[in-house]
Amino acid sequence: MFINADAIFLNANVITMNPAAPSATAIAIKDGRFLAVGADADVLAFRGSATEILDVAGKTVLPGFIDAHTHVMSSGVRHVAEEDCDLRSIGEIQEALKGRTIGAPAGDWLLGFKFDDTKTSEQRFLHRQDLDAVSLEHPIMVAHQAGHVYFFNSLGLRRAGFSDDTPDPHGGRLGHDPDGKLDGRVYGAAIYPVLRQVLPPHTDNDRRRGLALICRMFAKAGLTSVHDAMVSVDDLRVYQQARDGGDLPLRVYLLMYRDHFPALRDAGVRTGLGDDRLRIGGIKMVADGAIATRTAYLSQPYVGSCCDHGLAVMDAEETERRVLEAHRAGFQVCIHSNGDQAIDIVVTAYEKAQRAFPRKDPRHRIEHCSVVNPDLLRRIKALGCVVTPFCSYVYYHGEKMRFYGEERLKWMFAQRSFIDYGINSTGAADYPCSPLPPLMGIQSCVTREDYNGQVWGPEQRISVEEALILYTINGAYASFEENIKGSIEPGKLADLVILEEDPRIVDPRTIMDIAVERTIVGGETIHQRD
Ligand SMILES: [Zn+2]
Repeated sequence: MFINADAIFLNANVITMNPAAPSATAIAIKDGRFLAVGADADVLAFRGSATEILDVAGKTVLPGFIDAHTHVMSSGVRHVAEEDCDLRSIGEIQEALKGRTIGAPAGDWLLGFKFDDTKTSEQRFLHRQDLDAVSLEHPIMVAHQAGHVYFFNSLGLRRAGFSDDTPDPHGGRLGHDPDGKLDGRVYGAAIYPVLRQVLPPHTDNDRRRGLALICRMFAKAGLTSVHDAMVSVDDLRVYQQARDGGDLPLRVYLLMYRDHFPALRDAGVRTGLGDDRLRIGGIKMVADGAIATRTAYLSQPYVGSCCDHGLAVMDAEETERRVLEAHRAGFQVCIHSNGDQAIDIVVTAYEKAQRAFPRKDPRHRIEHCSVVNPDLLRRIKALGCVVTPFCSYVYYHGEKMRFYGEERLKWMFAQRSFIDYGINSTGAADYPCSPLPPLMGIQSCVTREDYNGQVWGPEQRISVEEALILYTINGAYASFEENIKGSIEPGKLADLVILEEDPRIVDPRTIMDIAVERTIVGGETIHQRD
């Protein structure tokens, strides 16, 4: 006797991402999972009187996209509580921030995010005086789009406890004008105490609103699972409330910020606790600066500089100590490391931890893993690490690639090399550091062309099929969930995206223009195109 499906999708161009049966025209769903995948006639055998039948009209169906490194809760909260400074001139940014001063009591913080110097006509960082011109009565802090550099006005600096003679903290730096006065720029770990102790804490209501907003944005882009790359215990509480209340449309894998590690360990928690909607993932740490702010920690200096190698946030000793603790406690370790010098420190720490306490398949991760070389690739493969490179950066941040130079670009965002070395690499936007649509990431990895048509590191091009693997089954592998999602196979979670066109056959320069028709999680539609 056949089981009756809840829904059957017919007449579809199904790309299953299951190598044993790569294509199909129909899918049956029952209780949130795939019941059958195959030809229309075979799948229709599961039709019952209550089965919903959907004619997909030849459109393309893929497993729902997975972004393995993105900022979910914190971006949502920022969209709710901060000014979006992704604007084309410093004057426009000042006007936008001024708008926020209206009715804001003197002394209240004004916050902004997504400022990107190379996307402004002035082509420079904000200076303290730019923000003093907005307000002398409100402390102001604006984050760079890539994080890792923050910009303050004079009152903001004072409230943050920074004065002209504050020494640079470990792993961080305060910018100064030639006359020794603070220029308002705060780099790396210098921001941590400000974020923790000085800024007003977000409320759970901000978090709830932010989470709902950002989930709608992700669903619209075809994402069904996201790995939140920096989660606090306050975020965790609101995530759990959302899950319990049925208000978490996406599946979320949580990379817990390192400060929470001791409490999690002492409570007996380790990677994998949770369910297919919400799961505790790894412990997140940061080893160096960012690609987009030119603070990644590099073995060779930045182009045009004699000696600027970027910024190490943790040294080798601290990295090894923290890795060993989390490794021993049964956690996956996830360390932001962009530059080859930082990656070397992290890989060494993973090697030492694994030698001291061998674990079967810890799947430690190198977040971003932006600049590599053959030695690092070989060692990463030997460790079985997962890497989560920026997929959209060549396209979206093309104007910054000149700071790295053509030679280095041959080894940056090195998807071709990761595949050739047999390393599990994923799809990731690191929103808000680059726009969140996976289709932009896929296009960028395939073409290696920026938005002006300039090609960067064509050696690292991959095929559309390979890029789809990154955003589906490899994303599932990064959270130890390759057996329950990432491909369209009977028994797996019914997470789907329906695209207007097949990304394998359109002009690769137009992949990001393909419309997302529908996004489905566990058989439930969470986004439908208007
Ligand atoms: Zn990130």
